Amino acid sequence: MSDSDGKKTLGLRGRGPGQVKQSFSHGRTKSVVVETKRKRVVVPKPGAAGGKSVAGPGSQSPATDPSNRPAGISDAELERRMKALAAAKAAEAEEAEKRAAEEQARAEERERRRAEAEAKEREERELEEKARAKAEEEERKKREEEEAKARVAEVPAAVPDEEPSGPARGPGKPAPKLRERDSREERRETRGGRGSRDDGERRSGKLTLNQALSGGEGGRQKSLAAMKRKQERARQKALGGQQDREKVMRTVQLPETIVVSELANRMSERVADVVKSLMNSGIMATQNQTIDADTAELIIEEFGHKVQRVSDADVEDVIQTEEDRPEELVSRPPVITVMGHVDHGKTSLLDAIRNAKVVAGEAGGITQHIGAYQVDQDGTKLTFLDTPGHAAFTSMRARGAQVTDIVVLVVAADDAVMPQTVEAINHAKAAGVPMIVAINKIDLPAANPNKVRTDLLQHEVVVEKMSGEVQDVEVSAAKGTGLDELLEAISLQAEILELKANPSRAAQGAVIEAQLDVGRGPVATVLVQNGTLRQGDIFVVGEQWGKVRAMENDKGERVKEAGPSVPVEVLGLNGTPEAGDVLNVVETEAQAREIAEYRANAAKEKRAAAGAATTLEQLMAKAKADENVAELPIVVKADVQGSAEAIVQAMDKIGNEEVRVRVLHSGVGAITESDIGLAEASGAPVIGFNVRANAPARQAANQKGVEIRYYSVIYDLVDDVKAAASGLLSAEVRENFIGYAQIKEVFKVSGVGKVAGCLVTEGVARRSAGVRLLRDDVVIHEGTLKTLKRFKDEVAEVISGQECGMAFENYDDIRPGDVIEIFEREEIERTLK
Ligand code: GDP
Repeated sequence: MSDSDGKKTLGLRGRGPGQVKQSFSHGRTKSVVVETKRKRVVVPKPGAAGGKSVAGPGSQSPATDPSNRPAGISDAELERRMKALAAAKAAEAEEAEKRAAEEQARAEERERRRAEAEAKEREERELEEKARAKAEEEERKKREEEEAKARVAEVPAAVPDEEPSGPARGPGKPAPKLRERDSREERRETRGGRGSRDDGERRSGKLTLNQALSGGEGGRQKSLAAMKRKQERARQKALGGQQDREKVMRTVQLPETIVVSELANRMSERVADVVKSLMNSGIMATQNQTIDADTAELIIEEFGHKVQRVSDADVEDVIQTEEDRPEELVSRPPVITVMGHVDHGKTSLLDAIRNAKVVAGEAGGITQHIGAYQVDQDGTKLTFLDTPGHAAFTSMRARGAQVTDIVVLVVAADDAVMPQTVEAINHAKAAGVPMIVAINKIDLPAANPNKVRTDLLQHEVVVEKMSGEVQDVEVSAAKGTGLDELLEAISLQAEILELKANPSRAAQGAVIEAQLDVGRGPVATVLVQNGTLRQGDIFVVGEQWGKVRAMENDKGERVKEAGPSVPVEVLGLNGTPEAGDVLNVVETEAQAREIAEYRANAAKEKRAAAGAATTLEQLMAKAKADENVAELPIVVKADVQGSAEAIVQAMDKIGNEEVRVRVLHSGVGAITESDIGLAEASGAPVIGFNVRANAPARQAANQKGVEIRYYSVIYDLVDDVKAAASGLLSAEVRENFIGYAQIKEVFKVSGVGKVAGCLVTEGVARRSAGVRLLRDDVVIHEGTLKTLKRFKDEVAEVISGQECGMAFENYDDIRPGDVIEIFEREEIERTLK
């Protein structure tokens, strides 16, 4: 019998007609109905010439028997009926076959699922068994140890009572072995018992049609597993406690927000149950929805678990934050930033100090490599940040890197205290950094240092010459005079500050500048603030991370390590960080990556929120909603001082009991990155009055979600702010800048006037659109176009990258280098959210 492959053997063995005995493996049999077809035999019938009759003993139909034939039915009719009958039978058989096939497919599917479930269960069981075995083992060990101790205490007297233990064996060992054997035997026994029961049940379970159809082996295996499962369930029920322990209260780590499915996962509950539970508390949430921690906490408690609130920010915990012990601290060089008004000589002063102090023959000479350098002043080192400008200072502070210890405020002696001087004073004061005033350009005949000193009084900077606290030094960056005095003043100030750091801890530093170098990848100049940064260190810096591949000092020399207050250029970052980003050395790459990712996400969320919060309307609404902070901060930039002052005055007048407008900063000229930085820090919009943001500022504003609003009529600006304040916002006419073009050449065309030869640098130039002429980001004309030409033809539109000719209606003062701004107006219905 070739039944090993599950094929059946058919045989007719004295069964009823059409019945076949089917044999399966292991001696099982089954009866199957077989349709048998007989050859038709034509028998001429008397009285029915040419008539046919089909008769077969197998077809037990009464119609086949002529004697049983109903009266009046012809042979032909009879044959038709017989045919129909046969066809019906065949269809029936086919149907049965189909049903059987379907049944089999279903059975197979069921079995597959069951097998999967079983595999899973088996795994769980194994795990559980392992855990149990481990627990038993531990308990046993403990017990053994105690016994051993007892043995040691009782000494020889106790020996006979003990289990047979050889002196060579360890005290705890023999018993576990015995016990192990015991338990193994127990297990074998239970397994045996289980096996015998299995057999019984297996047999009974084997006799279903499905199992028979799905083949011998499969059917058997399935029922075996089913039995095991059943038994396992019974056992677990009996063990009761065990099951309870498994379902125990879990401590669910709960971040600030959590997705419903993840919450279910952390509680080991079914998602559907969690959704249901949420629904019962009146919260309709799908499994992919995020819920807040408070809601989640209720649900967790409902399920009987414990809540442990965690913050996503916990990933940052690996960063070493403990305080340095006083004995670990050593003196470190001060870090100095030079600030002041433009053209007062910041760069000249930094250069002069470097040239005076760095020996030309030294490696790297006086050429500078990175945005910071160290000089030696009578044995003490001073670190100068060569990134003058307030933007760098503010952005660093905004990012939490207080890098500067001392600010050198440069004021030109032939000039006076200027807007940026004031800005610098305010920044230094806000940061709580001591100042030293360097009165520069003392060599000039027009120099009047005392005027500078008295000017400073107005801004609450009282220099020593005026019996104040702030050191002041007269210098000439051009002539090199007074430099030593300045450096001495700095050293003195540094001494007073008692600056200390711990070089033996993991490094922490701040990025002074960073860029993507074509050959070397992202590079960052880092000022080490505490600890020592070493080659090979793994670090996270802002939203980036990396491993120090190489370091170069300010002289361009390769170094293996950098201690406190030492600026170095670091290679080996995975991305370019931003100035002011803080660098922290961590232990593993995984930690670094995790922190960087967390920060990137947080920043993204913040940006999204910032984008939503800094439109004028929303800010107003927010200010109104929050009664304590009924204040709208704005940054104002205007084309001339007069306009700026007028705007500030107008804004002051807007104040009513509900909302006040606070001008954070007002100035003249293009909107710069520094303005955007300031606006971002305070969540303020930037108002440009007849001025535009320069390209970096525009980019920064986009990135940080700072709103820039342009106006050319003070009345409009005041109106807008007023309307926003009173909540009466009418339909707004908003301008969309659709393109920018740069004037390359200016031609005189007779009959037309001056025509600008332009390159469309951004967007599109449209004939019908409004245009403005910008010179140095300041609006100098607004109007419409007279012509827009591409080659010789008048066109409606010219797209970015193409050249064109443009001429203004009624306006002629155009110059190469000017920028044409193309805008369209659109009316927007405004709503206060
Ligand atoms: P910054 O914009 O503050 O960096 O100023 P710069 O360092 O670029 O200096 C602006 C101008 O002032 C340059 O033309 C310098 O040559 C000049 N300057 C700087 N320091 C002195 C100085 O001590 N004496 C004189 N006569 N000119 C100076």
